[in-house]
Amino acid sequence: MTVTTAGELPDTVHDVIVVGAGVVGTAIARELARHRLRTALLDACDDVGSGTSKANTAIVHTGFDAVPGSLESRLVREGQRRLAAYATETGIPVEPLGALLVAWDQEQLAALPGLAAKAERNGYHDARLICADEVRVREPHLGPGALGALDVPGESIICPWTTTLAYATQAVRGGVDLHLNCRVESVTSGTHHELATTRGLLRTRYLVNAAGLYADALDRQLGHGDFTVTPRRGQLIVFDKLARDLVRHILLPVPTALGKGVLVAPTVYGNVMLGPTAEDVDDKEATASTAEGLAALREKGRRIMPELLDEEVTAVYAGLRAATEHDDYRIRAHARQRYIAVGGIRSTGLTASMAIAAYVTELLADAGLGLGPASELEPLRMPNLGEALPRPYQRADLIAADPAYGTLVCHCERVSRGEIRDALDSTVPPGSLDGLRRRTRARGGRCQGFYCGPAVRDLFEAGQLGAGR
Ligand SMILES: Cc1cc2nc3c(=O)[nH]c(=O)nc-3n(C[C@H](O)[C@H](O)[C@H](O)COP(=O)(O)OP(=O)(O)OC[C@H]3O[C@@H](n4cnc5c(N)ncnc54)[C@H](O)[C@@H]3O)c2cc1C
Repeated sequence: MTVTTAGELPDTVHDVIVVGAGVVGTAIARELARHRLRTALLDACDDVGSGTSKANTAIVHTGFDAVPGSLESRLVREGQRRLAAYATETGIPVEPLGALLVAWDQEQLAALPGLAAKAERNGYHDARLICADEVRVREPHLGPGALGALDVPGESIICPWTTTLAYATQAVRGGVDLHLNCRVESVTSGTHHELATTRGLLRTRYLVNAAGLYADALDRQLGHGDFTVTPRRGQLIVFDKLARDLVRHILLPVPTALGKGVLVAPTVYGNVMLGPTAEDVDDKEATASTAEGLAALREKGRRIMPELLDEEVTAVYAGLRAATEHDDYRIRAHARQRYIAVGGIRSTGLTASMAIAAYVTELLADAGLGLGPASELEPLRMPNLGEALPRPYQRADLIAADPAYGTLVCHCERVSRGEIRDALDSTVPPGSLDGLRRRTRARGGRCQGFYCGPAVRDLFEAGQLGAGR
């Protein structure tokens, strides 16, 4: 098992290198780990899932509103099935709440039958129209004026951090080398692809570009110009856990040309989220929240659920969708070049990740990569960060066996010393306090680390020294 964050890189020719360890790249690496290949997964950051994959709305979509016949429609539908089964198997927190797509004016109400028909064309047969009275019974805290809704029972909420980490963990345990702090700066293609990285040279026979927002730049390095990424920022507001009882479903708006629109949804951690905005920006690092963006969200949220706006805000964040000029994913095999571009994975990549991985593996085989037989990966069980099942501090059996699970360090999120220790000792350990938060929720609650920050930092630094990293 190899995870490196610094130092020399192996001087060998890999069978496949995957650039980008977001939810898509890690899923691809996990799929490749089922075959006897020399595979490496690279990321410019100090952790997996540090790009768009850490900051989304965390919904497992049914694909009911995708463009019928598109690659995205197919991969979202298949990805949802695969991810639901995988989450159950590995313990990734997931809650099948279902969604209500609410109409607030006559025009939106008139659009609902069309959306129901679209859902059918997308192979989703469980959507049905419900009247204003039923909407009110099912969501009693909704603001006044809802005229009806499309009930989409198959939509779920999930933990996006555990998903990426589960893929990466299984990939590494299955033999994939993970190199972090390893940005690809240029590529030269000949007999092999030669990747000049910030940590030195790497060579590979086959190259997969899963670089998210930067996939277009890498694609150009390889001589293509198939798509240009224009980051579409999505800002979100996370409300305190006291708001959780207000909301029973994922409350979706009627989608527009710019995207899925502003929703209200619970999180698996017990909060309620409002967002995202959809703003095209020039800067691929523009993940700051803005006063205008948050004000616009509050205005929209007040219409959807006025009481929510009276609740305390725990955090705000923003993520960037890798939108392109095309209205579908841009997954392209350049067989003669032994190169697969995985671009334009905009607003559904979390849901579709496992199906994208299977599809990319097929494309690699079609491009001549000898996969050999596939083997089963070692089963994996991830730590539970969700509120739907008991957390370690609630489990007398765990605490009796190891009192560290009964010693709380982060009181807002009830994270124990045992969970922090386990994360620091894990196969893919965190490279920063933020990475530790994504593995445990420590510092992610009401106080945002104001009280627990020093204690968490001490444990993190001691763990880093202990691991000699
Ligand atoms: C606001 C918002 C809400 C969303 N909501 C949902 C949702 O509810 N459900 C859903 O399914 N999807 C959702 N999405 C979409 C989903 O988050 C993305 O499709 C998915 O995270 C994309 O994953 P990725 O691996 O392609 O990209 P990323 O996570 O961005 O990963 C790409 C990685 O490549 C690395 N990289 C880039 N360039 C280089 C280089 N030169 N060398 C080495 N490494 C490099 C980056 O560091 C990064 O880690 C949402 C997105 C946003 C922004």
